[in-house]
Amino acid sequence: MPWAYHVYIIDATDEEIHVEHTFYGHTKQDCTEARNEHLAHCAQFQAAEAEGRTDDLWEELAEREMPTTDGDSDDEDDVIDIGAGG
Ligand SMILES: [Zn+2]
Repeated sequence: MPWAYHVYIIDATDEEIHVEHTFYGHTKQDCTEARNEHLAHCAQFQAAEAEGRTDDLWEELAEREMPTTDGDSDDEDDVIDIGAGG
C-alpha cells in the first residue's frame, strides 16, 4: 500500500504549525528515503529536527490517491500556496 508521510514543522516563535512536508512512497521505506533526501538540504527542516519541533503522521493511501504528474487539473494542486492573507 502507498503511504503519505506527513511531517509538520512547529514554528519556533508561535509554536503553531504553518508548514507541512509530505513524502509519498509505495512503501514506508520509500517515504523515509524521500524524507532523508529532503532533510539533507532543507535548512528549515534540519533546524526543526534538531530542536524537536516536528510532529509526524503516517497516512495509508489507496493507489489512486498517490499524486501523479499526468495533469489531472481538477485535483488539488500538490503545491500548496502559503501566501499572506486569506
Ligand atoms: Zn523542506
